[in-house]
Amino acid sequence: MARVLGGPEAIAQGVQTLRAGGVVAFPTETVYGLGADALNADAVARVFELKGRPSDNPLIAHVAGEAMARRVVAEWTPDAQRLAERFWPGPLTLVLPRADALPEAVTAGGPTVGVRAPAHPLTLALLEAFGGPLVGPSANRSGRISPTTPDHVEQAFADDDLPIMDGGACARGIESTVLDLTAETPRVLRPGVVTPGEIGAVLGRDVAVGSHSTAGPERSPGRLGPHYRPAAPVVLIQTGEPEPAGARIELSKDADACAAMLYDALHRADAAGPIRIVVVLPAERRGDPAVWDAILERLGRASHPG
Ligand code: AMP
Ligand code: MG
Repeated sequence: MARVLGGPEAIAQGVQTLRAGGVVAFPTETVYGLGADALNADAVARVFELKGRPSDNPLIAHVAGEAMARRVVAEWTPDAQRLAERFWPGPLTLVLPRADALPEAVTAGGPTVGVRAPAHPLTLALLEAFGGPLVGPSANRSGRISPTTPDHVEQAFADDDLPIMDGGACARGIESTVLDLTAETPRVLRPGVVTPGEIGAVLGRDVAVGSHSTAGPERSPGRLGPHYRPAAPVVLIQTGEPEPAGARIELSKDADACAAMLYDALHRADAAGPIRIVVVLPAERRGDPAVWDAILERLGRASHPG
């Protein structure tokens, strides 16, 4: 049984579990994460096992701020400093050369680590009280829809003894923007609500978007193919197109509101066991087009036939 932790004892209970090498689900502004001591290889292995996550898919180190970030990276660059000052705590993950102290599993054996400070008071307090970095992949079984409420986490891990810190519904609703700072040109590997335009404005230079497929091996494993998938198949249609039978989801016209409601809408539609989920894209899209790119990337993978 998953257990929900609330009230004034929640942080102390969470820290106790983490110190023992256990896993605690924590809230962030993006989605709920599976927290474990990022410097403890056994604790990290438990996270991979609980999620059923392929070992070639690296985890993001969650930190309270710059000082803790410096412990997981080999080099804290001027670009990282500028971006952290502007966007942390917030939904921007920075990929930097990794520190030797990190277990290999965190980085999937690679030379870099993704790091971010999440903007949720409960999890920032947990990180401060624990006093070290925590891995925090989305608290779902690998490949399934990400959780944005404690209920979603409970449903996914109903058969596990997983403590869940209740921080309410996630305000932003889709995963962080992942930015690679290890190449000549900074590159967005995963789109999110922090946009390439905003990042470029802070750095004063161009930001590339997309994987490194033309510049060597895939640099962000887990970024291709099906993901974020409900049990029912997902079909995307434009407003006004003929609609197949199934559970129907109409998305908000506003980009930020749409991101915030997306996963909960998919969870709700899926709960009834429909033959398919029909997602109707709004005819008019308001808000930042780059946030729509992030939403459509998730929906593209949720509806991936593979
Ligand atoms: P999740 O924890 O479910 O939000 O997934 C984290 C994602 O961040 C992974 O699928 C990778 O695409 C990306 N990521 C994490 N660490 C790195 C890294 N060192 N280099 C490139 N991408 C990373
Ligand atoms: Mg995930």
